[in-house]
Amino acid sequence: METKLLSLYSQREEALTAAAQTLAEGALVAFPTETVYGLGACADNAEAVRKIFAAKGRPADNPLIVHVATMAQAQALSRSWTPIAQTLARAFWPGPMSLITAAVPSIPAVVTAGLDSVALRMPDHAEALALIRLAGPIAAPSANLSGRPSPVTAAHVHEDMAGRIPLILDGGDCRIGVESTVIDTRGEVPVILRPGQITKEQIEAVCGACRVADGVLTEVTGKALSPGMLHRHYAPRGQATLVWPSAQAQKTLAQLYDMAQSIGLRPVILCAKAMHEAMGARACLVLDEQGDMAHGLFAALRQADEWGFDRVFIQGVDPAGPGLAYMNRALRAAGFDVAGET
Ligand code: AMP
Ligand code: MG
Repeated sequence: METKLLSLYSQREEALTAAAQTLAEGALVAFPTETVYGLGACADNAEAVRKIFAAKGRPADNPLIVHVATMAQAQALSRSWTPIAQTLARAFWPGPMSLITAAVPSIPAVVTAGLDSVALRMPDHAEALALIRLAGPIAAPSANLSGRPSPVTAAHVHEDMAGRIPLILDGGDCRIGVESTVIDTRGEVPVILRPGQITKEQIEAVCGACRVADGVLTEVTGKALSPGMLHRHYAPRGQATLVWPSAQAQKTLAQLYDMAQSIGLRPVILCAKAMHEAMGARACLVLDEQGDMAHGLFAALRQADEWGFDRVFIQGVDPAGPGLAYMNRALRAAGFDVAGET
């Protein structure tokens, strides 16, 4: 299959029209959002949604997020829109937050992986919203091959999806660069199933309370609240290790790097600017060039692969506030291989 790339800068109208038509025909379109690139199909078309799982190699038990453009669309997909869902949607939509709510039975089972709940999100991205307005609600996971780091540029999408999907919309770099905060809105208090840019503290500020699910910073086996927690994620091709944040982290990173190099490996350190300065001539990819560490992580993991680094050391941060989303992704990228834990 030929994969077409259309720019949302130089050919916006043509790109959006072609994308809406492709979706209406039951085919897939990769499109930018403020978090990461999504791989979309019309949410009411089971046949089309099945193609997402095939293109990604995604396990069928991992449900998708349905992207909406209006509150009315969200409420129409929910069997029980709770006051918590309403409060959060008002505070943070459009934005990097997906709300788990009871699903109406008309949503195809392939979207929800057979669960009785559905994840809904209104992205804060003009072209993504324009596309949803043209095509209706769009089911979309991240547009990477399953297990690979999420794509934050159209080039990343092309790397993974060329030949597998007919159309990629190029909207440049994603502003946030880490996937949405996933929140279960069905209980007494909101529960974070996957941390993102919207933090526990921000949710507490509007809802009065908020819990973080077990498994956000630990390996989950067996039954998970959010099936995505079970699967290997974000992994570079080189073997990765996360170095836990501590006063010794700088020493640990340098030692691990030097040891790897001494046995003939090509190591690289993924770290903050300040740490880079302390690492001397060691190869580093700086994560916080454009703001927080999470923003640079996925691009750096892909860059490490591209440049042939076969041993990856990732600097940990305090898993509080925005650090929670970063640590959740970094730990999974490292397959929970952690050094320097105190
Ligand atoms: P992705 O868009 O690739 O980040 O994947 C969507 C994420 O949302 C995965 O981690 C899913 O497990 C999670 N998710 C989607 N629907 C549900 C649901 N109904 N209940 C719990 N988690 C969900
Ligand atoms: Mg994903």
